[in-house]
Amino acid sequence: MEKSILIVDDSPVARLQIIEALRKTSLFNHYGEASSVLEGIKAALGRQYDLVICDLEMPEMDGFKFLGMMSSRDDLRDIPVIMLTGREDLETKIRGLEQGASDYVTKPFDAGELVARVKVQLKIKALQDSLKRSNDLLRELSNTDPLTGLHNRRHLMETIEKELRRSERGQIPMSIVMGDIDNFKEINDTFGHQKGDEILKTVADLLLRHLRQYDCAARFGGEEFALVLPQSNLMQAVQIAERIREAARKLTFQGSPEGFRLTISFGVASYPHPRIHTVDDLIREADAALYAAKHEGRNRVCIR
Ligand code: GH3
Ligand code: MG
Ligand code: MG
Ligand code: MG
Repeated sequence: MEKSILIVDDSPVARLQIIEALRKTSLFNHYGEASSVLEGIKAALGRQYDLVICDLEMPEMDGFKFLGMMSSRDDLRDIPVIMLTGREDLETKIRGLEQGASDYVTKPFDAGELVARVKVQLKIKALQDSLKRSNDLLRELSNTDPLTGLHNRRHLMETIEKELRRSERGQIPMSIVMGDIDNFKEINDTFGHQKGDEILKTVADLLLRHLRQYDCAARFGGEEFALVLPQSNLMQAVQIAERIREAARKLTFQGSPEGFRLTISFGVASYPHPRIHTVDDLIREADAALYAAKHEGRNRVCIR
């Protein structure tokens, strides 16, 4: 794998010495150089580095300042930094480690020691990266409905909670749409459970095609779906639900000679609303609207 290292030191000679020591190994494909803290931060933002070696004593801003700037940014925080300190004193080293340095090397450095410490940091970084990938995957799985690939109910509730708070703070509207496939039991009974599963996936894909970037689609349970539409008022949400309803009505499924169709009923509820203050209120009102849509004959969008 391609690896890059950034060397931040005000002395060109020191930078050259470090690069020469590291070039004898084949650890890195790219060597970035910066002669000041600001140049170093700029370089780190411009390219993905696996490791930084940073001098402590530099004019204007010192290595502590560099550590502070690195750890204040989400995108730079995880890059290990080895400090190069000219000082022998323990206090400086402790301060560097406390401020986020991963390790330190005392100048003038021994090339063998530098390489060994660099290897340790690369190893730790590789382990951390792989742990992070596993965690991301686990989080993704724990938020996903396995059949449809949509978000699951757990993630839906979290999203509504977050969006409702954002709406309250910014005094901006938001809506949720509940959709339930009409007479799905009959479809299952006629064409089989496996066909039913296929249909659920097709409907999920159809929902995703109608969403904007910040909208969220989830499987609420069984053949019931929910959409969270931030910054959409009631009328805008109804328009989206209508569009999905129309598109669903036009789908044709294989199973009978002439193919068969389905319809979906929708209930929409929006914040702000005199009866809506919590996540449960929003869901209850959307559910009541969905119930009304079923009661009035299905294949329609009702509001609260
Ligand atoms: P309504 O128009 O009133 O919504 O009628 P319905 O038949 O859709 O509603 P009902 O709640 O009676 O039935 C829902 C059906 O959805 C029953 C259940 O077997 C089916 N179902 C729930 N989850 C799944 C699933 O994961 N796969 C399949 N194939 N069917 C499912
Ligand atoms: Mg210096
Ligand atoms: Mg149904
Ligand atoms: Mg249902």
